[in-house]
Amino acid sequence: MPAPGPKNIAVVGGGLTGLTAAWRLHGAGHRVTVFERGPQVGGAIVTTERNGWLIEGGPNSLQETAEVAALLRELGIADQKAQVGPDARKRFIVRHGRPVMVPLSPAGLLTSPLFSLGARGRVLAELLTRPRVRTTDVTLASFIAAHFGREIVDYALNPFVGGIYAGDPDKLSARYAFPRLWQLERSHGSLLRGFRAEAAGRRARGDAAGVAPIISFRHGLQTLPRVLAAALPPGSVQTDATVTSLIPGRPWKLIWTRADSVQTAEFDAVVLALPAPALAQLVFSTLGERSLASLDHVPQPPVSSLFLGFKRGQVAHPLDGFGALVPAREKRSILGVLFSSSLFAGRAPDGHVALTVFAGGMRQPETGRLDTAALLARALPDLRDLLGVAGEPVFTHHTFWPKAIPQYNLGHERFLEPLSRLEAKHPGLCIASNARDGISLPDCLNSGVAAARKTGEFVSKL
Ligand SMILES: Cc1cc2nc3c(=O)[nH]c(=O)nc-3n(C[C@H](O)[C@H](O)[C@H](O)COP(=O)(O)OP(=O)(O)OC[C@H]3O[C@@H](n4cnc5c(N)ncnc54)[C@H](O)[C@@H]3O)c2cc1C
Repeated sequence: MPAPGPKNIAVVGGGLTGLTAAWRLHGAGHRVTVFERGPQVGGAIVTTERNGWLIEGGPNSLQETAEVAALLRELGIADQKAQVGPDARKRFIVRHGRPVMVPLSPAGLLTSPLFSLGARGRVLAELLTRPRVRTTDVTLASFIAAHFGREIVDYALNPFVGGIYAGDPDKLSARYAFPRLWQLERSHGSLLRGFRAEAAGRRARGDAAGVAPIISFRHGLQTLPRVLAAALPPGSVQTDATVTSLIPGRPWKLIWTRADSVQTAEFDAVVLALPAPALAQLVFSTLGERSLASLDHVPQPPVSSLFLGFKRGQVAHPLDGFGALVPAREKRSILGVLFSSSLFAGRAPDGHVALTVFAGGMRQPETGRLDTAALLARALPDLRDLLGVAGEPVFTHHTFWPKAIPQYNLGHERFLEPLSRLEAKHPGLCIASNARDGISLPDCLNSGVAAARKTGEFVSKL
């Protein structure tokens, strides 16, 4: 007979994934303890406010999916949201050394100077593609080339995945990096027809907005993890607490370190809400077994985020958009630049603008590792050529991510198998990771919700 009542559940990792899982488990009536290695919650989400500048060191925005909107309502912070400005729909891709606007509609595509006439014709011909069930995975580049041709790979896909994954489309897996496209090819053949059918479906359901809006918060993205942590009962979040070992059983025993002391506690179930390199370090059992050591091989290249402040007059470009992405073929040092002060209000002092440059990734990992002075020396000539930036920034903030974003490259399934195997071996263990469930913040939120549901179901049977 299961014993009713709340159970003790450990959540390891105080990023968005772990905090969402903890919030949902708390909502289901359980006692949750979140272990976070760092001094504050948020993980990759790091906001800094300094002298009138609001800097995002990691993610800059998130899509307000239905699940995100529901969470914000639950937490009572919907009124703290920051919406993107009206120009944010405009995005630029660099071609022949200048930023060119990305077409916003099929009609815009027909006349866009971003692509050659041949490439535009090829895009239209894609509408005739027949459904296809592939038996083996392919790289994202060859998948998209089969639909739209190589020019679209070079001047649309390449900068796009540079912006999202800091990734290389010739290495990313079509099946794991963009499962939605993989499914659309199966169901519709043509991806364009698939998008059209999805949009029609949304309209039929009364979801007029179609695409989820892009948001942040007035005080930056870290508002979300901070509010989540504060909404848990006092003492639920242990910061500066690094979990080192887990001893499976009933109950589970967790061993963690804080400062120089080693501590232990027992739990009915454990949620691991960690990226691949952290999972790889964990010891399971008393025998010192690192069961997920292979996850250390998930490629996770370095990325630098360089937040730069300028006087308005130093930048010739109107900055009337989201930002500009740079295709590898353009042979620049940066992956792209966000027009941060155009995206959201309150990011720069009056009379100033803020840009956030990303560098490194799979394309140029060595650039991602440069120190601030060397990186600035590389980035400024690009900004001068592309946006007409003159002189030195009046404000600089550099955030370095040695292992930024997991790459769902071809063969990614070899990293997923050990996760499923470990969960099957040890009931009461649930692994939620951006190396498994998707990298975007909404993916992380969904992953945390799913982990809470699964763990809740498990403990209800104890
Ligand atoms: C530079 C950059 C830009 C990005 N831009 C965007 C964007 O604009 N939009 C978007 O949607 N997504 C973006 N992403 C992706 C997104 O931010 C991440 O996928 C997401 O934040 C991961 O959340 P998480 O909770 O799964 O992991 P994390 O945020 O990494 O949190 C894991 C936490 O676990 C802690 N931890 C690790 N090991 C242990 C241990 N042994 N014991 C206890 N605690 C431990 C860590 O300190 C960390 O706080 C970006 C990511 C980066 C790096």
